[in-house]
Amino acid sequence: MKKQRNTAQKRIIMDALACADHPTATELYEAVHANNPRISKATVFRVLSQYSENGEIRRLHITGSDDRFDATMAPHAHLRCAYCGRIKDVMFPELEPILSAAEVEGYKVYSAEVDFICCCPSCDQAGADGSEYKN
Ligand SMILES: [Zn+2]
Ligand SMILES: [Zn+2]
Repeated sequence: MKKQRNTAQKRIIMDALACADHPTATELYEAVHANNPRISKATVFRVLSQYSENGEIRRLHITGSDDRFDATMAPHAHLRCAYCGRIKDVMFPELEPILSAAEVEGYKVYSAEVDFICCCPSCDQAGADGSEYKN
């Protein structure tokens, strides 16, 4: 019974991750908890650690911010806002030739870490002009 409940909770957490946009563990917990008050913060953190260690999701290490989690495993790049930390996926087919070339050389590519450091539209509207950009 306990195992079944754990499986159900894991599925809820993974579904929420798939719908969320690169949340931190705390943001994901808040989203999950709103609809499932019985799922604890410890459970969300534990499931995220387990799945990222198993390579089923990606943990994104971000300087000066909490780690974020990504359910998209296909190689892709990120647009990352330097001001609010928002991350948006860019799936780019231009990666394919690079990946195939690597495979020809005998490398097995598991993921790609490509970050474009940006100013997102809402921070741009709020007046960020790049002068306070550091990182
Ligand atoms: Zn922003
Ligand atoms: Zn992503």
